Amino acid sequence: MRLSQLFIPTMREVPAEAEIPSHILMLKAAMMRKLASGVYIYLPLGKRVLKKIEEIVREEMDRAGAQEVLMSAIIPAELLKESGRWDVFGPEMFKLKDRNDREFCLGPTHEEVFTDLIRNDVKSYRQLPLTIYQIQTKYRDERRPRFGVMRSREFIMKDAYSFDVDWDGLDVSFDKMYDAYCRIFDRCGLKYTVVEADTGAMGGKDSKEFMVTSNVGEAVIAYCDNCGYAANEEKAECTVQNTIDEEMRPLEKIYTPDVKTIDELVSHLDVEAERFVKTLIYKYKNKVAAVLIRGDREVNIVKLANLLNVSENDVELADEETVKKVTSANVGFAGPIGLKDDVMLIADAEIPAMRNVIVGANETDYHLKNVNYGRDFKADVVSDVRKVVDGDKCPKCGSPLKLDRGIEVGHIFKLGTKYSDALGANYIDENGNEKPIIMGCYGIGLNRIAAAAIEQNHDDKGIIWPMSIAPYHVIIVPVNVSNDVQRDLAEKLYDELSKAGIEVLIDDRDLRAGVKFNDADLLGIPIRITVGKKAEDNIVELKLRREEKPIELKYDEVLGKVK
Ligand code: ATP
Ligand code: MG
Ligand code: MG
Ligand code: MG
Repeated sequence: MRLSQLFIPTMREVPAEAEIPSHILMLKAAMMRKLASGVYIYLPLGKRVLKKIEEIVREEMDRAGAQEVLMSAIIPAELLKESGRWDVFGPEMFKLKDRNDREFCLGPTHEEVFTDLIRNDVKSYRQLPLTIYQIQTKYRDERRPRFGVMRSREFIMKDAYSFDVDWDGLDVSFDKMYDAYCRIFDRCGLKYTVVEADTGAMGGKDSKEFMVTSNVGEAVIAYCDNCGYAANEEKAECTVQNTIDEEMRPLEKIYTPDVKTIDELVSHLDVEAERFVKTLIYKYKNKVAAVLIRGDREVNIVKLANLLNVSENDVELADEETVKKVTSANVGFAGPIGLKDDVMLIADAEIPAMRNVIVGANETDYHLKNVNYGRDFKADVVSDVRKVVDGDKCPKCGSPLKLDRGIEVGHIFKLGTKYSDALGANYIDENGNEKPIIMGCYGIGLNRIAAAAIEQNHDDKGIIWPMSIAPYHVIIVPVNVSNDVQRDLAEKLYDELSKAGIEVLIDDRDLRAGVKFNDADLLGIPIRITVGKKAEDNIVELKLRREEKPIELKYDEVLGKVK
C-alpha cells in the first residue's frame, strides 16, 4: 500500500478526553475516530489490526475444537426475561422496540441466545459436548465510557459457550478454553496474568480473568509472589476476609455492661450509642443469640447463620417483645461487641458499610469507639467485604499480598446450570433420565486487546506493534522521492516484498525525511527500510521499531532478513 493513497488522517493534537497512551495514539495514528461517546469508527489501519486479532482468536478457537456461528445483535426481550437478566442489566442495556411495540435489546452478551439454541436443538447426550462461539458486536451503555475503545459502548467480543453432560466434562471444556486464551494472548504479544474472579451469587464454580498488566488498567489485582496466588479485587475481598488480624487501637474507656443473656442485655439498653442500632447478636453457650430490631426474621436467621458459619438451628432470635423494647428504646449498642473471646456482630446487610461502631471484650469499661471494620477490627467470623489492601495476608500461604492494576481482556466462567435451569436446557442421558446441561462461557474483547497491546508497546514517538498484530510488517521510506535512483530502488523493493507476501507500506509522499520517519514511528510498523543516498551502491538501511540503531544491508539481503 502506498502512503500517498492510504486513508490515514494522522492527528497532531488530540482532544483532552484522550487521557491514556492507547487512546491518544489510536487517534494520532489514524486508527480510529470517535462517532459518539463510546462509539468508534475504525479507519483502514485500525481495521487491519482488528482483523489480525480476530484471525488469531478464530484460529485458536478452532484449534481448541470450538465451532463458529453468528448470532444477531438484536435479542428479543422474552429470552432475557426468562433468565431474569432483563432487569439485572439495568441501564447498561440498550433497549428498543419494533413497530409493533415488541421489546428487544442490543445484546450485551449472549448466554440466553446460545442456551435457547441448544435447548431447541440438542436433546441427547450423544450431541454433547459442544463448544460454539461467535465474533460479534456487543452493546453496553457503560456508565462511564472512557479510554477510547478500551471501555466503549459498542465493541467486538468473541464469546464462546460450552455445553457438557456433567461437571467433569465442563472441566475439560474449560481447560481447553483456558489454554486457547493463553495462546491467543501470547500470540498477540501481551504480558498478562490470570487471576481468580468472583463467581457471584448464582452458583458458578470457577471464574478466571485474563489481565493485561498496565498502570492504566481499571481493575485491581492482588497477587502473592511467594505462592503465585492471584485474584481480582472483588475475589480477593472475599478471600482475605477471614485473615484480617489488625492491631486494635488503644482502648478508649466507655461504659459498657457485663451481659451474658438477652435479658441482661436488654436491661442495659440505656447505654449511650454512637448510632441507632439495627441489629444485635452475641454468642453464648455455643448458641448464637440475636436481638433483631428490624428486618425479616426468616431472612435474618439465614443471614446470621451464614455470617457466623453456624447452622440455622444455632441461631436464636429474640422474641417480638424484646425486639419492640429495643426498638422503642431508640438507643443501644452500636455493635459489634465481643463477649469473652467471641466476637459479636451486627447482623445486617449493612455490615460492609459499618463504620464507627463500638467493639470490645465482655468486660466492663473495655470497649472501643469509632471502630471500622477491617481497619481496627479482628473479624474472625465477620463476612467482611472491605477492599483488599497492599500487605493483606495471602489466603493460600499467608505472605503479604501485593497490588497491581490490570486490563481485563478475557474472562472464562464455569456457569454450571445457571442458564440451563432458568431456560430449561436439558438433555436425556444414557439411562433415559432428563438432566440439565452444564455450561461454561468464555469472552474476549477484541478492541480491548488492540488498546492493551498499545499500552504495553509504545514509546514517546508512537506505537511499537508486535509483529503478529501490526497493520503492516514493513514500511519502506525513500528519503527523497525526486531522486530517481532512490525512488526506483524503493519501488523495486516494494514490488519484491509485496510479491513475497509481506505486508508492506511505501511512503512515496514528497515530504521531508524527518516527517516520514516520525510518521513511521507513530504508526509503529515493526520494520522500517530507508532507501537513501547509498541507493547508488544498492545499499539500504533496516531499522526495527523496537531498536535504536539501524543496520545497513545490501539490497539482495533484504528479503532474506525480513522474511
Ligand atoms: P469490565 O469488568 O471491564 O467491565 P466485564 O467483566 O463487564 O468487563 P465481560 O462481561 O466479562 O466484561 O465480557 C468479556 C470481555 O469483553 C471482557 O473481558 C473485555 O475484554 C470485553 N469488554 C467488556 N466490556 C467492554 C467494553 N465496554 N469495551 C470494550 N471491551 C469490553
Ligand atoms: Mg463491565
Ligand atoms: Mg469484569
Ligand atoms: Mg468479566
